[in-house]
Amino acid sequence: MTKHRLPLQHQNILDQLPFGVSYLDHTYAFLEANLFLTELIGLPWELLSGKKCYEVMGEYKDDQSRQGLDKICSFCRIEEARRTGEKQVLERFFAGRWLRVTTVPEKDDCGQVTHFLEIVEDISLQKKAAEDLVSSVLDSIDDGFIIINRDFKIISSNRAYAESVGSPLGEIINQHCYKISHHLDRPCYLDGEDCPVKQVFDTGEPRTTIHTHYDAAGQRIYVKNKAFALQKNELGEVQTVIEIVTDITAKNHYEAEIHLLAFYDPLTSLPNRRLLLDRLEQAFIAGTRTSQYGAVLFLDLDNFKTLNDTRGHDVGDLLLVEMARRLQAAVREGDTVSRQGGDEFVVLLKNLSKTERIAITQAGHVAEKIRVDLGQSFHLAGHEQQITASIGLSLFCGHDTTVEELFKRADTAMYQAKNTGRNAVRFFDPAMQAALEASSALETDLRQAISEQQFTLHYQPQIDSKGKIIGAEALLRWNHPERGPVSPTTFLPLAEESGLILPISHWVLEEACAQLKIWSDIPTASGLRLAVNISTRQFRQADFVKEVQQILAVSGADPTRLKLELTESLILADIADTITKMQELGAMGIGFSMDDFGTGYSSLSQFKSLPLEQLKIDLSFVHNLDLNPHDAEVIETIIAMGRILGFHVIAEGVETKKQMAFLARSGCNAYQGYLFSQPVTATDFGHLLKAGVITKK
Ligand code: C2E
Ligand code: MG
Ligand code: MG
Repeated sequence: MTKHRLPLQHQNILDQLPFGVSYLDHTYAFLEANLFLTELIGLPWELLSGKKCYEVMGEYKDDQSRQGLDKICSFCRIEEARRTGEKQVLERFFAGRWLRVTTVPEKDDCGQVTHFLEIVEDISLQKKAAEDLVSSVLDSIDDGFIIINRDFKIISSNRAYAESVGSPLGEIINQHCYKISHHLDRPCYLDGEDCPVKQVFDTGEPRTTIHTHYDAAGQRIYVKNKAFALQKNELGEVQTVIEIVTDITAKNHYEAEIHLLAFYDPLTSLPNRRLLLDRLEQAFIAGTRTSQYGAVLFLDLDNFKTLNDTRGHDVGDLLLVEMARRLQAAVREGDTVSRQGGDEFVVLLKNLSKTERIAITQAGHVAEKIRVDLGQSFHLAGHEQQITASIGLSLFCGHDTTVEELFKRADTAMYQAKNTGRNAVRFFDPAMQAALEASSALETDLRQAISEQQFTLHYQPQIDSKGKIIGAEALLRWNHPERGPVSPTTFLPLAEESGLILPISHWVLEEACAQLKIWSDIPTASGLRLAVNISTRQFRQADFVKEVQQILAVSGADPTRLKLELTESLILADIADTITKMQELGAMGIGFSMDDFGTGYSSLSQFKSLPLEQLKIDLSFVHNLDLNPHDAEVIETIIAMGRILGFHVIAEGVETKKQMAFLARSGCNAYQGYLFSQPVTATDFGHLLKAGVITKK
């Protein structure tokens, strides 16, 4: 039955109103509603009358699981009005329109709420005007945005976003947001746990992520995505998420530029003082770990001021740029060339030798090379320009000094170089300076020794357990006209460092092969094997195999009589290169012996795969036999392991019968040492051969 609280003419008036009016009792049942409202709800008054509002409106109307008050729908704030006795206003989207719902509670004389008046206005037009205003603002900003609903569909977006993904705005709306995320570096979030949008829906907390992607024009760009909850329902559940996408490529670029300005010299693009200090600190740390020396070189141009004054600052700048290029070309990759300002440069050298004497030579070499390179004339703005530099040097090993002290020393040394007449290299430490000068003088002499052929080869016999000579080791001898005999242990590291080892080694191989050829014609010597020491630099040459092949061919020596001695460190430095070359040389019939075995802490099993025939126990173990029981054990182990792995074992540095007896008992195959003979000339070696068997003294 239809109930009307109002006379009909009043009802007619109400039905004319352009907004909804309803009247509800304290149980929220409709007592009255005008036409606007019945049409909005979609039920004629006959069906609506007496119904509770939550049974016909809002999202819970079909939800049977909700009970009583819990079932109050979100269409209006009627429950709130009842509880507080106050008027409530709510704006919400319903049946395709934006509505403003005003709920006015009515009270009796005791203040109890008995009825509710509800007014429902359609504010869609106002909303649309406001939204249009917002979207025109949003379209004019550079950041892109999308609003995503709970189905992960995009319900709103702006121009900047559409442009960034290269789709027309209209095509983005209603798309699944993952469909257009293909341009991201990690497009496949789908509803994965790490999807920021999903996380915002789940937690309500904002999420910011950084991505790289390619924009519509194929340019790689960096974007910051900030997603946060835009709308929540009355239960606090996130209904829509807005994602704001900011292109931070320019900012990144800017930051890179700031980094460049902060750490690099703008003129030469070299590291500046700040970066140098940083690298130096790292070098200190690395040096503490490896015990390797490092060095700093302070470099100052001689008379740079005059050049600037006479030819102008532009030419001065050109010179500094060219200088920076030459300096960088003179050092290794891990080293740092930095410009401190003006014409002052500092070079940091890392990973020098662990031995001070060799590190001095190495640093001295680089400094000298730089001095010579900078001394070559510069072509600046159509003119030739000659300039020289003074270089100060100071060594460090780990944290053995402070940065300030190190710089002070190198700086002092640089002024000493200037005081000695410029165009010079000086070490801060007088002892180091002396060592550098000594090694420079030795190097000069060494060059002369090569051109004047001051070298000879000596031969130290290798014998079997019966005292029979089975071969020899070729050992280099240098007899300098004034210095007298110079030990290979003195001049070989310098030769290695300066590269002079290459011509020297070439000569040694030629001489050794010529000797082998001579022996091949002597019946007592034709079966001998000759061992030749190979240096690291020599072995690492790309054409080393070819070099050996040529020398053998020219000499006519039998490759199977030649044995190359390689050290453990040489083999391990570049194992792949070692294996290739050993295999190629091995295929020619050449044998290999591992020299100084036992000093490198490597395990024998590492060498199983190498075409190696012999292990040479280092003489330090043999010498310490009587002193250190541990060395005796090492020897026994090497021999036993060698036998298992099929290696022939020879001991070097055998000086006493006792050592010999121990080695023999342990199963050693061959011997070399002063007990049998010193290294001797080829002629004297011939005499030893005639005797046949070397009797132990
Ligand atoms: P190495 O290859 O381990 O040679 C053994 C060294 O021990 C030689 O010293 C030899 O004279 C010495 N020696 C031999 N028997 C005894 C002994 O009973 N007691 C003692 N105390 N020493 C003994 P040398 O000739 O001074 O050579 C030193 C190092 O120089 C060699 O060690 C080798 O590494 C290198 N060397 C020598 N000649 C050449 C060469 O032609 N080329 C290359 N790359 N290195 C060479
Ligand atoms: Mg040797
Ligand atoms: Mg040795």
